Amino acid sequence: MNIFFLEFRDPLFGIIIFFVLIFVITFVSYWLARFKKREDHKHLDKFLKQFNTLPSQNELKVLITGGELSEKSWLLLAHSYTKNGNFEKSIEIYRELLKVGDKANYRDTMFLLGQTYFKAGFLERARQIFLEILKNNPRTPQALNYLLLVYEHMQDYKSALEVLEPLEELKKDISGDSAYLNSLMILNNPELSTEDKVQELLTIHKKSNQLTYLIFEYIFRVNPKLAWENFDYSKAELLVDILWGIDKKDLNLDIIMQNSYLKELYSAKGYIKESSKSSIFEFNVLINLDSKVNATLSFEYICDNCKQVYPFAFNRCSSCHTLETSRVELSLAKNYYKDFSEENSSFQ
Ligand SMILES: [Zn+2]
Repeated sequence: MNIFFLEFRDPLFGIIIFFVLIFVITFVSYWLARFKKREDHKHLDKFLKQFNTLPSQNELKVLITGGELSEKSWLLLAHSYTKNGNFEKSIEIYRELLKVGDKANYRDTMFLLGQTYFKAGFLERARQIFLEILKNNPRTPQALNYLLLVYEHMQDYKSALEVLEPLEELKKDISGDSAYLNSLMILNNPELSTEDKVQELLTIHKKSNQLTYLIFEYIFRVNPKLAWENFDYSKAELLVDILWGIDKKDLNLDIIMQNSYLKELYSAKGYIKESSKSSIFEFNVLINLDSKVNATLSFEYICDNCKQVYPFAFNRCSSCHTLETSRVELSLAKNYYKDFSEENSSFQ
């Protein structure tokens, strides 16, 4: 029985105590290390979270009035918020800067605020901001340009045309904007008949030789016969997507036969068989496929000024706001419409 009881003077007792202590220390340090690691994760999560959650309006107010960052840094931050589409935060920064910022930059900050309101779609607020800038600084073409865009988006074309007057006084070329706004006014006038709209648009086109896409897209849609009669061969490439979409019954073969581009285009489409090859790769492939493969053309629109690519046609680039800078890019694609119509006819 005595073998289970050790005397504390026994050397074996000391060895046991020693190992027990080692075990306790290892155990405690292991759990301490684990706990610390978990806390580290939490700290990192907390640190990263502050980049995901944006500062509240009140936090921004305190930060801006605190003056720890320069006004330029705040403007850069607001600009990056705008670029990422977070208009709400950039608007908050601009509004606070207008209250506490340098008065020398007041007009520039106002302009940036108006620009952000416009981008965010707050047209009425943008209008008020640009009008306020122009009240104190009437010779600010940038504000006039934006005010014109605001009125255009509001479909208040009369006011937009009025903005062109001071721009003309500032020696800016307003011919394109004037023709464009007048055309939009005609197209959106519910009191005009379709025939009147067509005639007035043709008059604008003849006078300005501009807005071919806007005007002919409408005329080919409502009166293809008249569109062909007024067709300008030199504009065929510009209108390729519109020409491609015209129904076979609306074609004017007399006009098409006189132009090699049109002959190649409609041979590629499969409506006629007048061309056996084309210098345009996409047309050439479609002519040689001879409707054996389910392929068609698809279109992309590139702004020649800012190189922005759009999946739809545009008259004024929504990125750089210039007029008539759209260039159509062709590519070959599967003809889903043909697939769909074949499927439907097989059910009948
Ligand atoms: Zn552009």
